Amino acid sequence: MLLSKQTISKPFTKERMPNRIAIFTDLDGTLIRHEDYSFAPVKSLLRKLQFKHIPVVLASSKTRAEIEHYRREMKLADPFIVENGGAIVIPNNYFETRYLRRHQAHVRSYADSSCVELGRPYAELVQALNEIQAETQVPLIGFHEMDLDQIIQHTGLDRRQARLAARREYDEPFLIPGDPTPGTVRKVRQQATRQGFRVVKGGRFYHLTGKSNKGRAVRILIQLYRMAHQIQVFIGLGDSENDLSLLQNVTVPILMAKSDGTFDATILRRMPGVKRALAGPAGGSRSSAHFFANRQHDPFHQATQFSKVAIPAKNAAPFCESLGSGDAFSGGAFDLSRLHPGGRRRSPVPGVFNRRHRAG
Ligand SMILES: [Mg+2]
Repeated sequence: MLLSKQTISKPFTKERMPNRIAIFTDLDGTLIRHEDYSFAPVKSLLRKLQFKHIPVVLASSKTRAEIEHYRREMKLADPFIVENGGAIVIPNNYFETRYLRRHQAHVRSYADSSCVELGRPYAELVQALNEIQAETQVPLIGFHEMDLDQIIQHTGLDRRQARLAARREYDEPFLIPGDPTPGTVRKVRQQATRQGFRVVKGGRFYHLTGKSNKGRAVRILIQLYRMAHQIQVFIGLGDSENDLSLLQNVTVPILMAKSDGTFDATILRRMPGVKRALAGPAGGSRSSAHFFANRQHDPFHQATQFSKVAIPAKNAAPFCESLGSGDAFSGGAFDLSRLHPGGRRRSPVPGVFNRRHRAG
């Protein structure tokens, strides 16, 4: 699909990428509201990030067709991760071709982009889901079985969006009817693993995928950003279990509240120190998107502050842990004074120096 030059900013070049920070963000329940898929509260923030040339990489369980729609609406020009890490779509000329060479075996070329394919073909997933159902005797309703009206009923999407959601390539969403016990879910997961697949939980559906996940796609892009643009700080935002691997692979992981105001139990268990984004003033169901609209609570705004910090790549993990150890974020504001007190001095993390970003 061709991107309009009037509405989409030009791809970044090394010279136009002065800020050493990039953002990886989930869509549903994180950047857009769970209930009505609106991103109105974050519109102006996205503009600001674009103005500052800070890449915003959308990483969703949505299809390529769906994310392309949001990207156009949000006027973003950065790569994006589709279907829970099934593929990375990289606009032409975004990274120099030489950096993509090592992924050549998995690259499918389109008119305007390259697609690094990491997931299993959709037909295999559909077949596997049927086999898992037969083996476990647990009734499963796959996305491929749903007609347009059923997709609308289960997702709340309008007819046009539902059509885009049905164009799946690397991930099969499914429902377990009724209120499945943890034991039932475990049985399904274990059978999927035995067959060489994975099950992850998103905001609305379980998802059957190959060995791909958001984290693997994030790692590839981080490597590309480090090599091509010398970006060192990567902020990750997500709200559901399928964001765990994304959050585990960024320097600053931020867990968003779910639509009912709670936090994902699996992520809290696996990442006890993760920054938690509190519910916004409206609380509960409107929290995630509204959270961003509150400047005080706004990680995107705070993210821009990181452009002043240079973190050596090898120290990314300890830096992340240092963020996770406090409650700077869950206190309401992200207290960056702890992170870059200014000037060239030692950070609380051994081996990590904070220094002012030097322009040029
Ligand atoms: Mg989500």
